Amino acid sequence: MERLVLISPRGFCAGVERAIKIVHRELAKRDRVYCLHEIVHNDSVIEDLRRKGVCFVDALSSVPPGCTVVFSAHGVAPQIREQALEMGLECVDATCPFVAMAHETIRRNAAQGMRTAVFGDPRHVEVAGYLGERGACLPEDVKAGEKVGRVVQTTLDSSVYGGVCTATRDRQRAVGGFGGDAVLVLGGKRSSNTRKLFEKARSAGKRSWLADSAAEAASIDFSQVSTLGVTSGASTPDSVFREAVAALERKYGLKAVEMEAET
Ligand code: SF4
Repeated sequence: MERLVLISPRGFCAGVERAIKIVHRELAKRDRVYCLHEIVHNDSVIEDLRRKGVCFVDALSSVPPGCTVVFSAHGVAPQIREQALEMGLECVDATCPFVAMAHETIRRNAAQGMRTAVFGDPRHVEVAGYLGERGACLPEDVKAGEKVGRVVQTTLDSSVYGGVCTATRDRQRAVGGFGGDAVLVLGGKRSSNTRKLFEKARSAGKRSWLADSAAEAASIDFSQVSTLGVTSGASTPDSVFREAVAALERKYGLKAVEMEAET
């Protein structure tokens, strides 16, 4: 490898930073905080919060009565909020404002008698949350000639779908516009935005890799690469990114440069 270039923007987006801050704020008030679903899809973030007293659950039935439950950055269906309140849980909302806005769009459309088609992976918690709104439906359920609204999962490919969040769009554009021959994306393999960055690099004709730790990054053989760009998903902590870059610098005897400095 001849050059190691740090692609930007990269790493934590405002929605992820906000969600993690909310969980820390709740942890400062009590020893145990429950979080419905992983607050963001990154193992090192989840492990760190687990050590500090956060219990991640997949269903409200796993939260003991009277406890505090945080809704993750991906948002939840209205029925989940109602159920939590009926159970007497204290609800704290860490839904990203971009996601909250999409929920609001579906509700506004429903109030005007219009359904909203939700584009994205129906198995992803963000999309499942949208589909719980009154009037939300899958694109394939739209009837011929029916006028519907449209909401997209915030992490889809921004060059294909409008309405993707700006953090996702800017990170994807940076990868798409990178001039080197290969890209390494750091982040959780279950993270939708991280996987999309990887796919973006691949569809831009770059040799591409995905790694979730410095150890995994260092184990990859980049010796056939000329210029490697390194980026990270919106849920990847800066510490993971820095450790991985340091490991690559040591292995290849290079000093990484920021993309701006490079162009
Ligand atoms: Fe919010 Fe976009 Fe970040 Fe998701 S990727 S948390 S929608 S800013």
